[in-house]
Parts: sequence; structure tokens; C-alpha cells
Amino acid sequence: MKAEGEKKRLQRQATTRIETLFAQIRTLKPFNQEVADRYLRLVWQLSTKHKIRLASANKRSFCRKCKSYWRPGKTVRVRVQKSRIIYTCLVCGAIRRIHLHS
Ligand SMILES: [Zn+2]
Repeated sequence: MKAEGEKKRLQRQATTRIETLFAQIRTLKPFNQEVADRYLRLVWQLSTKHKIRLASANKRSFCRKCKSYWRPGKTVRVRVQKSRIIYTCLVCGAIRRIHLHS
């Protein structure tokens, strides 16, 4: 069994790795959906393995269902209503609603 400190250290490392992966996706030039999706799968593996919660901005940048990276107008349709934002994944059709004032 791993010591508690070791677990924390690994978790911190994974968190840094996740942030780096998101940064890499955002700076892809030119943007490449396949590469972005591949990075995203790594992010997902790391976050589930180490039980890391993603930052809310990052959580909204991809589809929870098919793990496609969301680009407004390309792979996601974003609609803003009075108190919520509705994301429709254009890859798998999943709908995600985010309530703004809750
Ligand atoms: Zn999807």
C-alpha cells in the first residue's frame, strides 16, 4: 500500500499533466481534432485513475459522452438562454446544460 504522501504527490503530478494537456490542445496550430481527442483521452484516463476533478472551464470543453474536444460551431453548438447554457455535441448528439446561477 502506498503512503498517503506518495498518493498526493502522484495526484499533483497528474493534475499538472492534465493542465499541460489542455494547454497543448488550446495551442495546437493548426488545430487538429484527432490530436485534441487523443490528448483528451489521456486527460480522462488521468482524472479517473487519480480521482482528479477537472476545473469547470476544462470540464465544459469536451463531451462527457464521446470525449470529443468541443469547438464552438465545429463539434459543439452552444446556446445561451436566460439562466443556462446548452451545449449540444455535434459528434454524438449529447446535450449538456449548465445552469448559471445555481
Ligand atoms: Zn459527444
